[in-house]
Amino acid sequence: MRAAADRLPLWFNERARMRHFAVIGSGPAGFYTAEALAKAYGEGATIDILDRLPVPYGLIRFGVAPDHQSIKAVAKRYEKVALEPNVRFIGNVHLGADVSVEELLHYYDAVVLATGAPNDRRLGIPGDDLPGVIGSAAFVGWYNGHPDFADLHPPLDVASAAVIGNGNVALDVARILSKTPVEFAGSDIVAHAHDALANSSVRTIAILGRRGPHQIAMTPKELGELSHLGAASPVVDGADLPPPEADSALEPGQRKSVGHLRSFAASPADPAKPKRIVFDFFAKPLAIEGAGRAERVVVERTVLAEDGSARGTGETYAVEAGLVVSCIGYAAPPIPGVPYDNKLGLYPNGNGRVADRLYAVGWAGRGPTGTIGTNRPDGQGVAEQITALFPPGGEATGRDGPAGLDRLLAARGCDPVRFADWQKIEAAEIAAARAGAPREKLVRVEELLRARGH
Ligand code: NAP
Repeated sequence: MRAAADRLPLWFNERARMRHFAVIGSGPAGFYTAEALAKAYGEGATIDILDRLPVPYGLIRFGVAPDHQSIKAVAKRYEKVALEPNVRFIGNVHLGADVSVEELLHYYDAVVLATGAPNDRRLGIPGDDLPGVIGSAAFVGWYNGHPDFADLHPPLDVASAAVIGNGNVALDVARILSKTPVEFAGSDIVAHAHDALANSSVRTIAILGRRGPHQIAMTPKELGELSHLGAASPVVDGADLPPPEADSALEPGQRKSVGHLRSFAASPADPAKPKRIVFDFFAKPLAIEGAGRAERVVVERTVLAEDGSARGTGETYAVEAGLVVSCIGYAAPPIPGVPYDNKLGLYPNGNGRVADRLYAVGWAGRGPTGTIGTNRPDGQGVAEQITALFPPGGEATGRDGPAGLDRLLAARGCDPVRFADWQKIEAAEIAAARAGAPREKLVRVEELLRARGH
C-alpha cells in the first residue's frame, strides 16, 4: 500500500521537500556557499543570492586589482553557479532598506551573510579626516569602478603619496599609483582612474610599515611585481633588514618575500625611472598634518618589542604626502538585528553559525584575511551545517522562499536585477572596452540599470 504522501501529485511532493536559502552578498564567499548548497541539494533547494549592487562578484570585481586579470577569471566559475536552474542572482536589493534579516529568515530556511568587509578601518590618529586621506576600500573602489567611489577624485596633483600598512592591499595601491598607461593595457581599470593616473604628479610613494621586514603581510608574487615596473623602482634601506641568517626562521613564503626586499635593497634605483616606491619600516603613523588638506604624515620610529609588537622610540619625523591611503584592514557592515563585534568588524559566530538559521562566511565571519580560495572551505563548512539541520530530501518547513521575497520586493517598489540582466550589462561593458581591455565597467548605478535595456 502506498503511503498517503505518495498519492499526492508529484509537484506537491517536490514542493513539500523544497528548501529555500538566501545568501547575502555575491562575492567569492557567497558564490562558494551557493555552489556547495546547490551541490548538496540538487533540485531540492532554491538558492537566492542577493547583492546591494546591480552587478555580481563583489571583491572579484571591486577589490582584486584591475591588472590582476588572472585572479578575476574565477568569476567564470561563479557564473556557472548563477546559471544553475535553482540559483538566482538578485542585485540592487539593499539589506536593511529593502528587506530585513528578520524577513529573510521568515521566507528562507537559512540565511547566510556573505557581505564581505567593505568598510575601511579608521587609522584613529589626529588628521585622519583631512582631505587627501583615503581608506583603501575607497581608493581601490575608485580605480575598480565601484559606484560608491566614482566621485572620489583622489588628489594626484601632489609629488608624494604615503601608503600605510604592509599587506598586499598596500602593494596593490602602490603599484597602481606607479603604473603608466601602457602598463594598464589588458587591465579593466576604469576610464576615470586610467586618465587621472596618466596625469598624476605622484613620483614618490612611501609604504609605511609600523613593524619590520620580517613582519610584512605581503606575498612573494605581489612583491616580485615591483621589480618589473616600467616607471618605478622599489627602494629598501638595507639597514632595516635583519642579518640574512635570521631569514632561516621564516616559513618559506615569507622567506621568499623577504628575499625580494633584500634584492631591492641590493639594487640601486634605476635613474631612468622617475618614480620611487620607498619602503619605510619601523614607521608608526602618529598624525597627519596639513593646512586644510594632507601634506605630511608624522611618524614615530619603532623597534620590535619582545612580543613582536611595535614599540615607539619617541623619535619622530615627517613623511611628505599630499595623498595618504590607509591600507590597514576592513570591517563588515553592521546590520540591524545581527550581532556585531565592533573590535573585529565581523558578525561573531561559532564555525559560521551566528544565530538560529543565520550564518556568516568569508570576511563577514572570520575577518579580512586569506586569499579568494580561503572562502571555499568557509562556504562548504556552512553548507555542511545547513545540510545537517535540513537533511536533503527531508520534510520542508513550508517557507515561501523566492515567491515570498518577490512579493515583498514588488510591494516595496524595488527594482531587482537578475542574472540575465547582468549578462546584458556585461555585454555592454565588453562592447565598450578600450582596445586590448576586457571591458569598460559602467560605474554609476543608473548606467548599470539602463544597460539592462528595460
Ligand atoms: P593585511 O594583510 O591584514 O595587512 C594589514 C597591514 O596593516 C599590516 O601590515 C598591519 O600591520 C597594518 N596595520 C594595521 N593597523 C595599522 C595601524 N593602525 N597603523 C599602521 N599599520 C597598521 O590586510 P590587507 O593588506 O588589507 O589585505 C587583506 C587580505 O587580502 C589579506 O589576506 C591579503 O593577503 C589579501 N589580498 C591579497 C591580494 C593578492 O593575493 N594579490 C591582494 C590584496 C589583498 P601589523 O602586521 O603590524 O598589524
